[in-house]
Amino acid sequence: MSSGGNDLGFDSHCHLHFSHFEEDLAKVVEDSREAGISHILIPSIDVETAEISANIAERYNLYSAAAFHPEHLPEEEHEESEWLALKRILLRPRTIAVGETGLDYHHKTFSPEKQHRWFQQHIELAEATGYPLIVHSRGAEEEVLKQLPESLSIPVILHCWGGNESLTDNAVSREFYIGVDGPLTYKKNRKLRDLIRRIPRDKLLVETDSPFLPPEPFRGKRNEPAYCRSIVLQVRELWGADMSIEKTSYILWENAMRAYQLHPENRKADIVYRYGESLYVNITSRCQNSCNFCIRNSVDGLDGYHLKHLHDPPEKLVLSTIEALPIEGFKELVFCGFGEPTLRSDLLMRCAEATRSRGVKTRLNTNGLCTSFLDSQQVTNLLQCFDSVSISLNASGAKEYNRISPSTVPDSWEHLMKFIKLAKRTGIHSQVSVVNKSGADLQRTKALAERLQMPLRIR
Ligand code: SF4
Repeated sequence: MSSGGNDLGFDSHCHLHFSHFEEDLAKVVEDSREAGISHILIPSIDVETAEISANIAERYNLYSAAAFHPEHLPEEEHEESEWLALKRILLRPRTIAVGETGLDYHHKTFSPEKQHRWFQQHIELAEATGYPLIVHSRGAEEEVLKQLPESLSIPVILHCWGGNESLTDNAVSREFYIGVDGPLTYKKNRKLRDLIRRIPRDKLLVETDSPFLPPEPFRGKRNEPAYCRSIVLQVRELWGADMSIEKTSYILWENAMRAYQLHPENRKADIVYRYGESLYVNITSRCQNSCNFCIRNSVDGLDGYHLKHLHDPPEKLVLSTIEALPIEGFKELVFCGFGEPTLRSDLLMRCAEATRSRGVKTRLNTNGLCTSFLDSQQVTNLLQCFDSVSISLNASGAKEYNRISPSTVPDSWEHLMKFIKLAKRTGIHSQVSVVNKSGADLQRTKALAERLQMPLRIR
């Protein structure tokens, strides 16, 4: 399935974590790529499968989601620990959605009350962290739509949708994405094919739900992401457009990219990410400097995380993300980001206070230029919110600094020196840093750090 030399196809729901793929997973992924499926989202059903899905996603450059399926809810005595374990998986680099969660009135493994309670928890978690929500509904389409709040700020994906016409119209009016699977290709399934015509082209997703629901002509076999092509072919026929399979696949790929916030138009950057034993908080991609060594010059992320914000994430989202995630148990929370965090000093203070109130240590990594827009008292107040501060010294003097870290801030070196002195006066645990291969004179930088009475970290 080639698209102008680029193979772009998205299997938006594929359970590669199941044991059905244990023996030949690498081949299944390879076959899917040969069939033009460039992207796969692996949803999970509990903690164990969320962990496996995250591992597969990281290994094969795919994406995963974490949630409890309504048929796989935790036993009462383990609810708290399991929920915590699941939320920790959301911190993994390629885990980008909450799913699949929802309601299942067909099997009714658990009471409707318990299912609704867990569905609500997942909705709130997705909303708090800004992650897309993948919803399972079987025999409970109406109840699912009722429980989903009218004003959600996250993409909602109604996976393997089986609602009737009016429920579909309701879902469409709320701009939910709707996933269709192999049964669309079954001869007898005219009802589903008619339903597809009611869904706007930019809201339809294709999914295999592998290893289940194989499309024609693979019925009776284990389903695989490579078989996505059969569903795409059926969609093309239904759209009745004079459109190539490549173009159809591309439109469906774009839809899934938007649904999962991976599209260049709405790409979501990670606000909280793991690095070593610490958690890092990324609140802006803006910076006054253009350091010659800055990783932003060459990449948009780190260790599988996407860190370049299209826009500053809203204050409410940053705070609710920190609040929702299990930050306890990490060495510290570092406010560093993919830009200069003090540019959002008010938010920074609120985040630091919220973190410290949970007994977690905080560190600020900064370029030390906030004295250009905050007065000394404001800088002192800001510093007092943290347990430690790491300041990018970068150079041994103004001339060298201007060469290595050109800045939009006039007199940037003077502001940096002022900040270092304020940090010293505040008594906060402080250090300065320099990058090894940036071109700075390390001996002279060391001597300067000694004069400033600051420990120096060479990075
Ligand atoms: S101060 Fe930090 S974020 Fe800003 S350009 Fe330099 S290295 Fe990059």
